[in-house]
Amino acid sequence: MTTNVKTAYSDLVDKLEDISRLGGVMSTLHWDQEVIMPSGAAESRAKQISALAGVIHERSTNPELGECLSQLSEEDPSAFNAFEACNIREAQREYDKETKVPIKMVQEMAELGSRGHFIWAKAREDNKFSDFAPTLNRFIELKKEWAACVFPDLSAYDANIDNFERGTTMAEIAPIFESLKSELIPLIQSVKEAKYQPDTSFLEGTFPVDKQEALGKQISRDMGFAFDQGRMDVSVHPFCGGGHPTDVRITTRYRDSDFIESLYAVIHETGHGLYEQGRMTEGRDLPVSEALTMGIHESQSLFWERMIGQNRAFCVHYMETIRATFPKNMQAVSVDALYEAINTCNPSFIRVEADELTYPLHVILRFEIERGLFDGSVTVQDLPELWNNKMSDYLGVRPPTDTLGVLQDVHWSGGAFGYFPSYTLGAMYACQFFNTMRQELPDTVKHIEAGHFAPIKTWLNDKIHSQGSLYSPQELVQKITGEPLNPKHFTDYLKTKYRAIYKTI
Ligand code: ZN
Repeated sequence: MTTNVKTAYSDLVDKLEDISRLGGVMSTLHWDQEVIMPSGAAESRAKQISALAGVIHERSTNPELGECLSQLSEEDPSAFNAFEACNIREAQREYDKETKVPIKMVQEMAELGSRGHFIWAKAREDNKFSDFAPTLNRFIELKKEWAACVFPDLSAYDANIDNFERGTTMAEIAPIFESLKSELIPLIQSVKEAKYQPDTSFLEGTFPVDKQEALGKQISRDMGFAFDQGRMDVSVHPFCGGGHPTDVRITTRYRDSDFIESLYAVIHETGHGLYEQGRMTEGRDLPVSEALTMGIHESQSLFWERMIGQNRAFCVHYMETIRATFPKNMQAVSVDALYEAINTCNPSFIRVEADELTYPLHVILRFEIERGLFDGSVTVQDLPELWNNKMSDYLGVRPPTDTLGVLQDVHWSGGAFGYFPSYTLGAMYACQFFNTMRQELPDTVKHIEAGHFAPIKTWLNDKIHSQGSLYSPQELVQKITGEPLNPKHFTDYLKTKYRAIYKTI
């Protein structure tokens, strides 16, 4: 590297670290707002966040940053190692995203996003899709224009998917989702019709919140969450946030009538938290160390929630603890009864309440609808009817209202199209990673039964968390598992598991 290039690179590093630290402040403000801020501070906080967003935007679009990047792009790529090349590549991608869009469009999207949220919330409350339809229409137009500015080589929907799951396209997702659909629809049907239905009655009762909290913290700690570099608190919707890998904030929520919901939210968010805490030790304020994509992040939360937490071996380990924590309800419950009760399948209207077997169909429905909205084969006014028909075809249930149907998700009100596929990609990645782990660590199930999670966490740290953004999701999956994303891992896992639980073989 020549001195000039060295200077330009270190200049880039300084600028990127600054932007990342300001982003960390923003995350901490958001956490505070969701967890402890007094409600009276809402207006002043909104202004503070908007002022800080302005500063971050200014830094991210600073022409000096652009000059720095263009100087580095003239250099022979072999002058940089993988770490440096990744920082340059990621910075260029973000800079292009921030600067290629006309300011008028940025403003309209921001304005529509915040107004859209209120319009959607009201329409959902009033069960009146037609009130939200014009906003949705405008957002799709805007997102098409946005796509043409930022990713002119991609189709509009692919550009939106790329925003959340880079390098992933409809051409890749569609056949995978088709194969999931053809396997899952009959499987769900047979589970619904099965004579044997697991008993879940012991999960109803009163479960003191302080005991739930202690149990959640113990399991999170057992999984390897470092409480000296993170916290666990309460919020309306569970999330994982925080300003830095050394300051990871996870949340859950409690209802004293249900301990499973809260516990599995803790396991899920701890999975996200371990990804953040396990980032590479070098360059933690640089793009290279950042978690890869939405789908890969979700693969880590779902890995712990489903592959580990909903595993029978996990019930073996925690049965005694759970009995001791909630003796009134759980004293006489067997390991198998607990395992079956936390793995029941109930086709329902709402995606966020769906179990692991029906969840993918909620996502596939949304993927198909979004794709149609972007290629023009679906119109906004057709949506409620189309939504309900698909629900009835895929899950055998028909939402009685739009509130329980097309209006249920917040995503479209903020213009987040192409986000939904990440959930199911994450579930499939998690399953494929788990199969590779079991080959490389043949004692995985024994480790879970013994509550010995360190080898599992270390494997994830090495293979995924510490790899940051060095590879694309496709490269990472290939590198770890020796093959591209293969839906057969996921469908085989679901078929084996649910046929056994429902005794339908
Ligand atoms: Zn998640």
